[in-house]
Amino acid sequence: MLIDKTISELAVGLRSGEFTSVDLINECYDNIAKYNSRVNAFITIIPREIALKNAQIVKLTSPLSGIPFVLKDCFVTENIKTTAASKVLENFISPYSATIYKKLLAAGAILIGKMNMDAWGHGGSTENTDFGPTKNPWDVTRVAGGSGGGPAVAVATRMAAFAVGEDTGGSIRNPAGWTNTSGLKVTYGRVSRYGAIAYASSFDTVGPVAKTAQDCAIILETIAGVDKYDATSSPTPVPEYSKLLNKNLSEITIGIPQEFYGDGLDPEIKAAVLKVSTDLQSAGAKIKEISMPLFDLCLPVYYLIGPSETSSNLARYDGIRYGHDRSNFTDETIRRILIGTYALSAGYYDAYYKKAQQVRTLFIEEYQKALSQCDVLLQPIMPMIPPKFGELLSDPLQNLLADIYTVSQNPVGVPSLAIPCGFTKSGLPIGAQIVGKMFTEELLLAIGHQYQQLTDYHTKKPNL
Ligand code: GLN
Repeated sequence: MLIDKTISELAVGLRSGEFTSVDLINECYDNIAKYNSRVNAFITIIPREIALKNAQIVKLTSPLSGIPFVLKDCFVTENIKTTAASKVLENFISPYSATIYKKLLAAGAILIGKMNMDAWGHGGSTENTDFGPTKNPWDVTRVAGGSGGGPAVAVATRMAAFAVGEDTGGSIRNPAGWTNTSGLKVTYGRVSRYGAIAYASSFDTVGPVAKTAQDCAIILETIAGVDKYDATSSPTPVPEYSKLLNKNLSEITIGIPQEFYGDGLDPEIKAAVLKVSTDLQSAGAKIKEISMPLFDLCLPVYYLIGPSETSSNLARYDGIRYGHDRSNFTDETIRRILIGTYALSAGYYDAYYKKAQQVRTLFIEEYQKALSQCDVLLQPIMPMIPPKFGELLSDPLQNLLADIYTVSQNPVGVPSLAIPCGFTKSGLPIGAQIVGKMFTEELLLAIGHQYQQLTDYHTKKPNL
């Protein structure tokens, strides 16, 4: 299949005339016809004729020109419905487009759909959606991860060449790990969030989901950068990530924070993630054991500040301005609004919200200390294999505990790259994350790329 190729291979083939953008678009729509009814990854499919028309007229001006992509349905798109996977926005059409969408269109990439997710980003399994859960293509009785289950599944099943997702506490990395795709949670402020529906504004980041770290580098250099419409976007110059992938691993020290490998981590996942460090060590990297004793505090910090911010952000959906009213929120979203409202209310604010912000500062120092002893940290993504449907939902606390490894980076702001690193005996994918200092995406992508030169897990696809 053409769409198995990486973005840079596709760009070469398009230029040499070996195949056309129309061929790529047709392949994606054929895969949608074959697979989507079984995995339920799309909320909106752009009509094939429209995508084909765009493919016929596209000029090859950038590496993404003519390449089919999808967006998580949390990015607003003029003339195309945006739902955030909630009935509240069932028929919502935004009068403007997200900055990343405009940048991708300007680069000549071709949108083919908007993807399923946990409503408002609330969840880690794409079950908290009003459009039916997304299924894991490696085992359709299991969840695909979340909140960006749809974007990851589209890439894993080759219904698109790449996707753009949003990560507030793992929503790019968790489904990447559970579907055998690569995904990058960027440094806070690296990519504009203008037009991304807000979950928790001080955690939200926007980033790529693709087959390889190299693909993520190409997408990131297109979507990153300062944006006058997003005051939190950073003026830090955007490196040419895809040209900086050939790092010598012997210059790198990888930290293994012991606390991330304790009780509760599935032994098969632990072994696969630690094997990443020995593989990189064989290629020259140095390995160092690190301690992050505050690790246990990341979940309570995340689940106090996240709900507090979402309770405020969701206040705008009052039934007056955006169609349906608040009775359309799901139980999970209502739970988060209640927790957040409680934590912010007079009399409880100091004990909960303020305390959580203070501990957040300690956590920022904890990461600074850990990353002063090494270049990057190697951590698991999820503590368990993808659960069966209903398993997480039936126990709301367990649902939050599953996020233990992915919620500690967002309150700090540091970037993290998720990459495939093996399979369980039962054939389910396992992912690892590589976490770096602020604005070191080029280092994470280079390590990911080097690792993908040494291994072939990222080339495997589900047998649907
Ligand atoms: N699972 C986490 C949550 O429910 C992360 C979600 C996200 O990154 N949007 O909050």
